[in-house]
This record gives sequence, C-alpha cells and structure tokens, in this order.
Amino acid sequence: MNIFLHRDDLRIHDNRGLDAASASGKTIPVYIDDPRIRDKTGTNKRAFREEGLQKLRKKYEDRGSGLIVRKGKTGDELKSIIEERDVEEIFFARSYTPTKRKIGNEIKALDIETKSVNDRLLVEPQDLKQEYDTFSPFYREWKKVQKKPPADKPENLASIGSEMPEMKAEPTADIPDAGEDAALNRWVRFKRKNLESYKDRRDDVANPEYVSKLSMYYSSGMIGKRKVLKDTVQMIDEENDSDKIRNYAKYRNEIAWGEFFYQVMYHNPNAVHHNYKEIPNEINWKNDSREFEAWKKGQTGIPFVDAGMRQLRNEGYMHNRLRQNVASFLTKHLMTDWRKGAKVFRKHLVDHNVPSNNGGWQWSASTGTDSIPIRIFNPIKQGRDYDEDAEYIKRHVPELRSLDPEKIHNWVEMGQKKRNSLDTDYPDPIINFNNRYHQGKQMFENALNK
Ligand SMILES: Cc1cc2nc3c(=O)[nH]c(=O)nc-3n(C[C@H](O)[C@H](O)[C@H](O)COP(=O)(O)OP(=O)(O)OC[C@H]3O[C@@H](n4cnc5c(N)ncnc54)[C@H](O)[C@@H]3O)c2cc1C
Repeated sequence: MNIFLHRDDLRIHDNRGLDAASASGKTIPVYIDDPRIRDKTGTNKRAFREEGLQKLRKKYEDRGSGLIVRKGKTGDELKSIIEERDVEEIFFARSYTPTKRKIGNEIKALDIETKSVNDRLLVEPQDLKQEYDTFSPFYREWKKVQKKPPADKPENLASIGSEMPEMKAEPTADIPDAGEDAALNRWVRFKRKNLESYKDRRDDVANPEYVSKLSMYYSSGMIGKRKVLKDTVQMIDEENDSDKIRNYAKYRNEIAWGEFFYQVMYHNPNAVHHNYKEIPNEINWKNDSREFEAWKKGQTGIPFVDAGMRQLRNEGYMHNRLRQNVASFLTKHLMTDWRKGAKVFRKHLVDHNVPSNNGGWQWSASTGTDSIPIRIFNPIKQGRDYDEDAEYIKRHVPELRSLDPEKIHNWVEMGQKKRNSLDTDYPDPIINFNNRYHQGKQMFENALNK
C-alpha cells in the first residue's frame, strides 16, 4: 500500500500527487498537522483548513475510503503509520518555502521509498533556465513552458476508517466555506459572470464580485490550478472578441504572479526574514508602536487605509489594491518595518502563503522585486481613483457612512476645523500626511545612497 500525504493540496480533483500514488497502488490518504507549520498559521486560515479537512474526509468516506489525520512532527507521525500498516511508498507534493522544504527532506530521509511530485505550481522554478527578479521576463518564459493537464481522479483508494483528532481553531473573522466543492462553485460562477471583464474591473474595489476571491482556495490547495488554467485557455481559444480575450488573459497573468513569488522564494529562502534587494545602508525605520497599533486597528484617520485594515480584520481577506496601499502606507508614511506588517497579514489572512505575502510586502516596501527604486502609493488619490463613490470605504468604516464621497476623500486635506464640524467618531489623521511622505522618501533615499 502507498501513503499519499496531503500538504497544501486539500482536494481530490486535479491532484497530481494523489493521482501518482493511486496509479501505483492502493492508497491511504494522510494529513499531518505539524506544529512547525500550525504554530505559524493564523487562526482564520487554521479554521478554514480544519473545515477543509472535514470536507476532504467526507469525500474519501463517500468513496469507501477515509482520511487519517495525526498531530505531530511529520517524520515521526509517518513512521508510526508505517509501523502500523503495510506501507511500501510515500507520495507527496513538493513545497518551496524553507520550513516545508525541510519537512520534505525529513520525509525523504525515512527508511522507505518516497516520491515527491509537482502539484503546487504550473511551472516549477527548476523548469526555467534561470532565476528572474522581475515579473515580465519571468512571465514570458513561464508562458512558453508546456503545462500538465489536470490530473485524473484517484481510483485506487484503501478501504480504511478515518481518524481525526480534535482540532478547533476559532476564527476571528467571518470566513468563507472551505473545501473543493465551494472552490469549484466559486470558480464556475466567476468564470461565467466576471472573467470577461476581469482586467477592466478588478480594481473597482467597491464590487467584491469583480475579483475571483479564490486565493484562500489556491493557498490551501482546495482548487486545482491546472483545471483553472485549462478552462481559461479554452475560453481564450474559443473566443473571437479581442476585448474578452484580453480580460481572460489577465487572469492567467495574475495566476503567474503567484508562481513568480514561489520562484523568488525558492531561489532566495533568506527573503522570508531579510530584504530581498541589496540595500547599501540600513533602513532607519521609525517603528513607532502607537502608529503601528492605529494602523492595525484601522484607526489612522486615512479612510482608504483604514477601510482595508478593517476588511482584513472582519473578513480575513483584503482586496489587492488595498493590500498595496496599506503596505505602502505602513512602510513609507509610518516608516515601519515591512516584517511587522507581514506578520499582521499572516495572523489574519485566510489566504496567507509565505511567498505571496512576503513578495507583496517587499514589493510594496521597495525592498523586493520591482523595477522602481522607491514606490510610494498615495492612498488619498488611490481612494478617489478606485473607490470614487466611497462605497468600499463606507462598507468597512461605518463612522463615515453619513458623509458624501467628496468629504470622505477630502478627510485628510480639509483640516481639523472642518473635520470637527462634521460630527463623526472617525479619528483625525495620526500623522502630517505630506511631511511624512517626504520623510519616508528621505529614509529610503538615505538607505539607497541617493
Ligand atoms: C502586501 C501584500 C500581501 C499579499 N499577501 C498575499 C498572501 O498572503 N496570499 C495570497 O494568495 N496573495 C497575497 N497577495 C496577492 C494578492 O493581493 C491576492 O492574491 C489577491 O488579492 C487575492 O484575491 P483574489 O483571489 O480575488 O485575486 P484575483 O484578482 O481574482 O486573482 C486570482 C489569483 O491570482 C493570484 N494573484 C493575484 N494577484 C497576485 C499577486 N499580486 N501576487 C501573487 N498572487 C496573485 C492569487 O492566487 C489570486 O487568487 C498579497 C499582495 C500584497 C500587496
């Protein structure tokens, strides 16, 4: 018999590791809740995964099999299962972050045949001739690599009873339904209704339907990327309307962004804790704890930033445009180390994954992969551009609901007296916005010897 070890692939459909295991022999599905991963996972994501495991168990039981879940170090737990059952080989999907690679090596060192396969990525870093530090050349090469088709359904599952220890992470946010059915339903709906306008509308932040909101399913592997890519390419190939093709293609491009950051992490494991870019001098972070607390709670007095941070706390999710803005604001205007912000995202995000979170933070902080030396978002202008009617802001910042959009977007610039006259509980800006723009820029120029 074989073991198939689920890691970040909590699904049965389009699962290359599971397919490989079951093609080679009767397969026992296993998941190990390893403390080295669990302790670094926020409770929202943990709760989402736990529900995902229940759904997965049910899927296996419906197929006359079961799911064995154990808590402990992956190597130790696998050893126990091998001792208990007649196991010949262990199959698992490769991971690319330092801790998960270490665990992968631990599995390979067990006294049994092991086989690791690529399931997580459409294109593995090893499939490319070189390392890329900017997205566009990466994407050009990424597109050229032949992608595998979706994996077959596993036919050869062992008839076993499930084992599931008590796992009870309490989410702090209102998180979506987990599991592959929820993921596939979301994909089908998004594909039917919004993929044709994805490129044109994805930054219209007021309407949550304009983006796929599939990131939590990708991060925990509840949806197969080959399935999504196949559907997307098919739509591109069968479409004559060039406008629609442009929109479909943008979705493929965004999927590749996620793969780009995996490639960066694979080649640069130190980037988890250190600046990706060589910066000649130390960045002289201000790291003011009072300002950091206000940012975390969505109480900075900058409406677009606060709306983003409150969405994060309430939903365990934040729109990409907002992620860029709150990250830029924390690192540039509040002059606070990107690592602190990345940790807050890790704590709350249901879709947290190390490569995308680290890549997104370092990109926004100007310490990462980007061709622009110092990028500073203006969250006042961005609010006006992407949330013109302040619908997104009002949804997440109830204190501002009674104001018209113009006043909301003018909140910082209108001055103290005018703000007082509006009689809302919403705070004044915690910083002098324009001064801080210059100070933040100077801090980076000093670090870069500019
Ligand atoms: C500071 C910061 C932190 C981030 N942290 C994470 C994280 O922990 N986990 C995560 O999945 N994404 C992260 N992102 C990327 C991006 O914001 C989310 O993937 C996206 O907002 C998820 O929403 P969606 O599924 O509706 O995206 P859609 O717009 O529907 O995009 C489809 C998919 O493409 C991928 N994708 C899209 N944009 C990006 C991007 N810029 N980088 C990497 N992948 C992308 C995601 O898998 C996403 O689900 C971060 C971005 C920033 C700026």
